[in-house]
Amino acid sequence: MTKNHPPLGDIRWQHELANAFKTIDDLCKFLHLHTAQLPVSEAAAKQFVLRVPRGFAECMQKGDASDPLLRQVLPLTAELLQMPGFSDDPVGDKAAARENLIIHKYDSRALMINTGACAINCRYCFRRNFPYSDYQVSKEKQDQALTYIKNDIRIKEVILSGGDPLLLSDQRLADLMQELADIDHVKRIRIHSRLPIVLPSRITGTLLAILTSTPVTPVMVVHCNHANEISQSVADACRLIKDYGITLFNQSVLLKGVNDTADDLCNLSERLFENGVIPYYLHSLDKANGTQHFEVSEEDALKLIQQIQDHLPGYLVPKLVKEIAGAASKQSLTG
Ligand SMILES: *Cc1c(COP(=O)(O)O)cnc(C)c1O
Ligand code: SF4
Repeated sequence: MTKNHPPLGDIRWQHELANAFKTIDDLCKFLHLHTAQLPVSEAAAKQFVLRVPRGFAECMQKGDASDPLLRQVLPLTAELLQMPGFSDDPVGDKAAARENLIIHKYDSRALMINTGACAINCRYCFRRNFPYSDYQVSKEKQDQALTYIKNDIRIKEVILSGGDPLLLSDQRLADLMQELADIDHVKRIRIHSRLPIVLPSRITGTLLAILTSTPVTPVMVVHCNHANEISQSVADACRLIKDYGITLFNQSVLLKGVNDTADDLCNLSERLFENGVIPYYLHSLDKANGTQHFEVSEEDALKLIQQIQDHLPGYLVPKLVKEIAGAASKQSLTG
């Protein structure tokens, strides 16, 4: 055994990550689906590779080609269409992020990119067309990012995003937490991660102890789009996060064929809250090339919010927002 042998929990999530589905054939075979009868596309999978952790695939209904979780990850021929109004960088992050690791659009919070990688590749993601290799996170770039934060006292909150920041090792996260906590004006560290949902084994006591080890307040925003994503393991992970006193929110993307009915959205909010998670944002789709088949019109989105408001307490209605390049905050569509 080497001296720096990682704790056991560490090994399990890394194994699960390595064992994720990586081809259309393997995933479809697991789900008893025949690829010949589906509008799948190997060309789309080449542009943005398929990656689906097994635990997430286990939440799908076998034999159901229109399963809402499958739709989020299956490469389709529809992705190859070029549509007016869609681009490779709809929110203007690409240019910003390549130069340094900070995206500072809203004055009191700065977003810090620490990895370009994710545990799952969501077909609707606005980062699908980003050259991930440009996100090489060097020690030098990280130091520059920390200096940037140090030099702007308006920054009260640092958002760790990516890619997925919880793909960093425990050691790197521990170092980063400490370095951020050493900056006086940083009061909160917010972690935007899909791992509690798609790779819940990442949520270990060791990780949570690290996130709560400094005087800064940790906040976690998970990303779940459908109630079926919340398996028992996911529920347990959320419970553990709450046990450590971390405030837990969810953001979703409104996606056609995934969660674009009032029932889907009500069930999602109810299921999240049962597990200690507060619905925060419902994002309208960022118009990235290859995502047009997920688009829900603004008119339909507003109707949906009206419908769910009739069924849910106000605190379970997520805020419908849209990202507009250059705006001082996310824009609420409900006024
Ligand atoms: C979404 C986002 C934030 C966070 O916005 P909140 O409204 O505080 O959740 C911060 N920075 C960037 C660049 C973002 O895209
Ligand atoms: S950044 Fe989020 S939405 Fe995009 S692929 Fe990664 S996990 Fe999915």
